[in-house]
Amino acid sequence: MRTMPRVLIVEDEAPIAELIAVNLRHNGMQPVWAMDSEAAQRELDAELPDVILLDWMLPGESGLALARKWRQDARAKSVPILMLTARGDEADRVVGLDAGADDYIVKPFSTREMLARIRAVLRRRAPEHTGAAVAVGALSLDPSAHRVCHDGAQLKLGPTEFKLLHYLMQNAERVHTRGQLLDKVWGDHVFIEERTVDVHVKRLREALGPAGALIETVRGVGYRLSAQPSA
Ligand code: CA
Repeated sequence: MRTMPRVLIVEDEAPIAELIAVNLRHNGMQPVWAMDSEAAQRELDAELPDVILLDWMLPGESGLALARKWRQDARAKSVPILMLTARGDEADRVVGLDAGADDYIVKPFSTREMLARIRAVLRRRAPEHTGAAVAVGALSLDPSAHRVCHDGAQLKLGPTEFKLLHYLMQNAERVHTRGQLLDKVWGDHVFIEERTVDVHVKRLREALGPAGALIETVRGVGYRLSAQPSA
């Protein structure tokens, strides 16, 4: 088993990529640099990284288009994506998250912030691969097989949605504030806004289809997963 996390940096600006790579190496990670979408795809095909740092503005195919593509890809979809973006506008960030990114980093960013965000996605990726299966109503989740089924049909979830659903199912019928969910699901939320929780809950509901109704919005408080949601 690999001990150094492999981080794929997709960034066309060499000085930025080099700065990131140096910092990753100094912090026990293995950086791999791709300067465009084609090189990134080649690296991804050669060996699956543990995290992808994906620049939004790339020559040719954009980072946003790549994120969308990889989220549809059976092999790549489980790899967390951190979008690098110069766009600070909230609407753009939501577009990035909707495209399948797990988090975003606004340029210019500090090394400390980047490392914290990478560690956070690595942490929240790891735990769901172990543990006992849980079931709520017709919904079942098997962490070891990384599988979610509703009425026997398998559903496709992104890594953050999987972790979020796992936590909600393990703590069904209880109301959780956004802050509590950030603590428990994201682990390190120093740089993550509560709005991020709403985006991932929306994505989780969509991925669950009819079972999405099991996740209730408790107005003014947060969210709850219930076997018998109130209408
Ligand atoms: Ca760029």
